[in-house]
Amino acid sequence: RLPTVVILGRPNVGKSALFNRLIRRREALVYNTPDDHVTRDIREGVAKLGDLRFRVLDSAGLEAEASSGSILHRTASMTANVLARSNFALFLTDARAGIHPLDLEVGKWLRKHAPQIKPIVAMNKSESLFDADDSLATAANEMCRLGFGDPIAISAETGLGMHELYVSLRPLL
Ligand code: GDP
Ligand code: MG
Repeated sequence: RLPTVVILGRPNVGKSALFNRLIRRREALVYNTPDDHVTRDIREGVAKLGDLRFRVLDSAGLEAEASSGSILHRTASMTANVLARSNFALFLTDARAGIHPLDLEVGKWLRKHAPQIKPIVAMNKSESLFDADDSLATAANEMCRLGFGDPIAISAETGLGMHELYVSLRPLL
């Protein structure tokens, strides 16, 4: 059985974009996870990254309650299901936005619900920061506050940083 990597992060950081890049031209299997209020699709596919092959899961997302800023129970319980089936996690953030309060929430949530998983933090949407080294370094410094080590800089849209992602995943898989 292939190792399983789940893509986690707050909404809009580019989880689905990265999923699509990793499974490119291969089929995504869509399955439903029923829960209290909604049924959401979770996509699963076989990722190819250099000579690495792994199962990848596009998580339902960890949405926030507009008022409290804390993670919604329904998406959190679904993501917990996905995590239980995963060996590794990619924790996606947005390099341009810098660290967001919800990123800290996701980190807290992850430490609580899946302490066995040490995620790789990947700052997505880094393509526009690559020409400005200092802003990339500033964003990277901020991301260290998540407590999961140094982030890598990627772009799901342009493919930048896919080699760094490969280098980070390779010893794990
Ligand atoms: P998700 O909610 O985390 O699954 O995020 P999506 O994959 O739906 O992406 C959210 C938005 O960010 C979309 O408008 C994407 O086109 C955009 N996006 C995703 N990846 C990148 C990237 O690497 N660079 C830029 N500039 N935009 C991106
Ligand atoms: Mg998505």
